[in-house]
Amino acid sequence: MIKLAMTDNKIVRTRIAPSPTGEYHIGHLRTCLYDYALARKNGGQFVIRIEDTDRKRYVEGAESRILQVIKDYGLDWDEGPDIGGPYAPYTQTERLDTYNKYIKELLDKGLAYYCFCTEERLTQMRETQKALKQIPRYDQHCLHLSKEEIQKNLDNKVPYTIRMVIPKNQTIVFEDMIRGKIKFNTNEIDDQVLVKSNGIPTYHFAVVVDDHLMNITHIFRGEEWITSTPKQILLYQYLGWEVPYFAHLTVLLNPDGKGKLSKRHGATSARSFLEDGYLPEAMLNFLMLLGWNPGNNQEIFTLDQFVESFSLDHLHKKSPVFDRKKLDYFNGYYLRQKTNEELFVLFKKFLSNATDEQINILVPVLKERIVKLSDLPIQTKFLFENVEYDKSLLLEYKDQILDSKLVIEMLEKTKSIFSDFTNLQEKLSNLIKENNWNTGEYFMVFRVAICGSKFTPPVVDCLPALGKDKTLQKLDIAISKLNNKLLN
Ligand code: GLU
Repeated sequence: MIKLAMTDNKIVRTRIAPSPTGEYHIGHLRTCLYDYALARKNGGQFVIRIEDTDRKRYVEGAESRILQVIKDYGLDWDEGPDIGGPYAPYTQTERLDTYNKYIKELLDKGLAYYCFCTEERLTQMRETQKALKQIPRYDQHCLHLSKEEIQKNLDNKVPYTIRMVIPKNQTIVFEDMIRGKIKFNTNEIDDQVLVKSNGIPTYHFAVVVDDHLMNITHIFRGEEWITSTPKQILLYQYLGWEVPYFAHLTVLLNPDGKGKLSKRHGATSARSFLEDGYLPEAMLNFLMLLGWNPGNNQEIFTLDQFVESFSLDHLHKKSPVFDRKKLDYFNGYYLRQKTNEELFVLFKKFLSNATDEQINILVPVLKERIVKLSDLPIQTKFLFENVEYDKSLLLEYKDQILDSKLVIEMLEKTKSIFSDFTNLQEKLSNLIKENNWNTGEYFMVFRVAICGSKFTPPVVDCLPALGKDKTLQKLDIAISKLNNKLLN
């Protein structure tokens, strides 16, 4: 069990707080997994809250896509915008009255203030600060307005934001569950806007109010939020609330170890990996070990085993590399754990052109060979179309060029034994023996004739899925190419 410095007998409550600004990033899915594990391990609750206060970046439909992808990875939650719960609503724009109550409290206590500065003034101020090589930050112009001035502006409906007062030269310390003590001097912190001119709170304010009211005990989030934490801690203090535990997770690095995981090395949304044929359990297993270790050599974890083993002591301080080869390894492992019946369902999703009969033939042939399910349409392309290839491919074997007469003979004789389309492997072996052909040469020719490529799945095993007519047709095309009846 984990230590709880807050109030010892509190129920562990974790949350993710996605912003519906686009697709759910794979890094967010890792955060979600750790939140899930901590709550489940301690018999607590895992909550989803939608942080939609940034209306400029709001993307229609993103919320339902985020919830769906988390579900598709096999994680569930106890409270959220879709299922409600004791602290509903779980969408921030539906909670504006709640924020108003607390902003009023801060204003009354003199811990927040109205700011009537125009965009132009703020821009001008920042430019001047930049020119003087100062860090751009609000100059507290409105902090010193008199009560009368404020009232006059409010009466005249001058647009305003509300900012928090940041005290001068104080040290704010918090204990990060991963990184230990983190200290900030308040001189480094800007007077953060808490409520925007449209009356909607900013993330910093809403997150504190909600995490408190929803009794969140542990907050996992990315390390990019570390610098936001002191402002949030001040807000907890201003409102007289207990500070939850924070764990700022490391960023995921690109496979080359350089920089934050980016699209430069392939798609990064949680959805894209499913579309690419990665199994949810393989991705979860991969993510489990990207920031945590069990303290021993165990690598394979079901979700339940992970929940059982998860502990805050083994979270990493060093950013992990998002090693796609390792992910492929996990995917291969989990694919091979599946029964043929389970694979049938998965193959069907990725091979929309194939008949059930074809899939039944392909499952045992391909299950050991694929890394991810999206390899299937590539590896089986020849079943559904005549793949274009150059005739020279039929003649190249290692570093020699075969005699085209021999190759034509091979193909013609193959055709003749296929009039009865059974015991194919045996028939081909006999044919090779009878003619004293080189087995390697023969199969290279045969593979290219059938698949249009030298790199193919076990071609003879796939023939029943191709069928007699198409097999003969492909052999004919190859022969025509060599007879120069076709251009290539
Ligand atoms: N809404 C923030 C995000 O999209 C949440 C940050 C937090 O967990 O505090 O990442």
